Amino acid sequence: MNEDLKIAQAATLEDIETIAAKAGIAKEYLEPYGRDKAKVDTKIFASLKDRPDGKLILVTAITPTKAGEGKSTTTIGLVDGLNKIGKKAMGALREPSLGPVFGLKGGATGGGHAQVIPMEAINLHFTGDMHAITTANNLIAAMLDNSIYQGNPLNIDPTKVVWKRCMDMNDRTLRSITIAQDKKTNGVERKDGFVITVACEVMAILCLSKDLHDFQQRIARCVVAYTYDDKPVTVKDIQADGAATVVMKEALKPNLVQTLEHNPVLIHGGPFANIAHGCNSLIATKLALKLSDYVVTEAGFGADLGAEKFLDIKCRIGNLHPSAVVIVATVRALKMHGGVEQENLQTENVEAMLAGAENLQKHIDSIQAFGLPYVVAINKFVKDTPAEVDALLSWCKDHNHPVCLADGWAKGGAGMTELASCVSELCEKENHYAPIYDVNDSIEDKLTKIATTVYGAKDVEFSDEAKAKIVQFAKYGWDKLPVCVAKTQNSLSDDAKLKGRPRDFTVHVRDLSISAGAGFVVAYTGTILTMPGLPKVPAAVHMGVDENGNTYGLF
Ligand code: ADP
Repeated sequence: MNEDLKIAQAATLEDIETIAAKAGIAKEYLEPYGRDKAKVDTKIFASLKDRPDGKLILVTAITPTKAGEGKSTTTIGLVDGLNKIGKKAMGALREPSLGPVFGLKGGATGGGHAQVIPMEAINLHFTGDMHAITTANNLIAAMLDNSIYQGNPLNIDPTKVVWKRCMDMNDRTLRSITIAQDKKTNGVERKDGFVITVACEVMAILCLSKDLHDFQQRIARCVVAYTYDDKPVTVKDIQADGAATVVMKEALKPNLVQTLEHNPVLIHGGPFANIAHGCNSLIATKLALKLSDYVVTEAGFGADLGAEKFLDIKCRIGNLHPSAVVIVATVRALKMHGGVEQENLQTENVEAMLAGAENLQKHIDSIQAFGLPYVVAINKFVKDTPAEVDALLSWCKDHNHPVCLADGWAKGGAGMTELASCVSELCEKENHYAPIYDVNDSIEDKLTKIATTVYGAKDVEFSDEAKAKIVQFAKYGWDKLPVCVAKTQNSLSDDAKLKGRPRDFTVHVRDLSISAGAGFVVAYTGTILTMPGLPKVPAAVHMGVDENGNTYGLF
């Protein structure tokens, strides 16, 4: 059986009341879902308003291999490590999506001895937030098509509907479909498509709202279609804002769970970082900051994606000031960046690893550009040889980069105390955090600043379609919003094949869309898709339940 699941199934869970008490959450605000997970009523904020915020620590990474380089594992291990050295620390993580769970990458509850539990529940249906988001999104889609069918009083052009249906599953067959076929009573036939739930705007709004009231106002602003004379039609226009908020009422409350070492973690909201903004909810992060002296959070994929969006979008909108950044690096991913093929990543190759270190260097440069103190965490794998680990430690020291070995996967909090001490020291340093661009810059300038400063690109090329959208968006004042780039996670560039530190490349913006409720413009680069497909052999084929009723194959 997979090691992660075996460890998670063998764990003894503390009652969630005990974990809540440890986190300082009074019983009146706790809404248990069974014995081992709970929602926290957001009324708790009023009782905590005079408490100072704790320190916010972001965990990011180098450009990963397809398996992931251990950000969640490091985040959870660091929470345990900080508690182990006597600090009061909490985690604020994203909820896993069923897309990767059944697809290729697996769940998102960490690994080895650095996990959050109950692992199975968190990776599957958890407290139903994904279901609520999917329902709210699809309610809006149904009401929109119904309005077109029922005489189309809003004058919606069916060829200009931009709101897609969603499902939390990798299913390429739904990317481009035709709805309402066959009979007139089935509705008005038009081309449509699904996105994966973690890429939909309702998810982004859940993650960026301050509270339920803010959620309702944001959902009302979402643009769902355009009229025949090109005017935007919103969720408010189709009168779906109230019902969508009702559906989301419980989902807006953060979820409390525990690490294997019984430290508290809030898991709430889970947009992907390649096709969405990649960070857990602002409500959960703010709650954790009120409850704890140190809050460890992560943002998806490499620092070019999740960290950029965390620092340019989430922190800006939420008025957050992070204190330190942990950049996770692995020997195997650096070897890949140094030119080693997937099948040879287990073989010692110090030379290739050092050649691949330029990928790490680029991500460090980006974090420095945001003005933040950082430490490199080498996430140790059993197959890493001492020569490789020593060479990477020396490379960091030679380049004056603070570095620590992180061994949370093998040892839990005990393997993370060195990193925990280093991070708590970094948090005392003065820092000069500032976003990379000004929201008042033009859309072209904002994208160019991200591409040149964070990706290391030469320039950005805009398709005719993207150029037309830029003109259209400026008409509605949407050019003064942050931008969220949809880009491959496999390269610093928009070409998944370019490993290491690509230079002299152009980023191709092929289209733009507006997320007026979330409050950003989405730029689609390269060939990135908002509905992933399953691989030839999906992880799902290895899953099942044994004769004792125990799950196997989940990882
Ligand atoms: P990320 O958050 O960067 O995507 P995860 O923390 O989810 O990565 O880890 C991805 C997978 O790699 C998990 O299955 C986890 O168990 C495994 N993993 C992470 N770190 C290690 C390690 N040091 N040794 C072995 N496996 C690891």
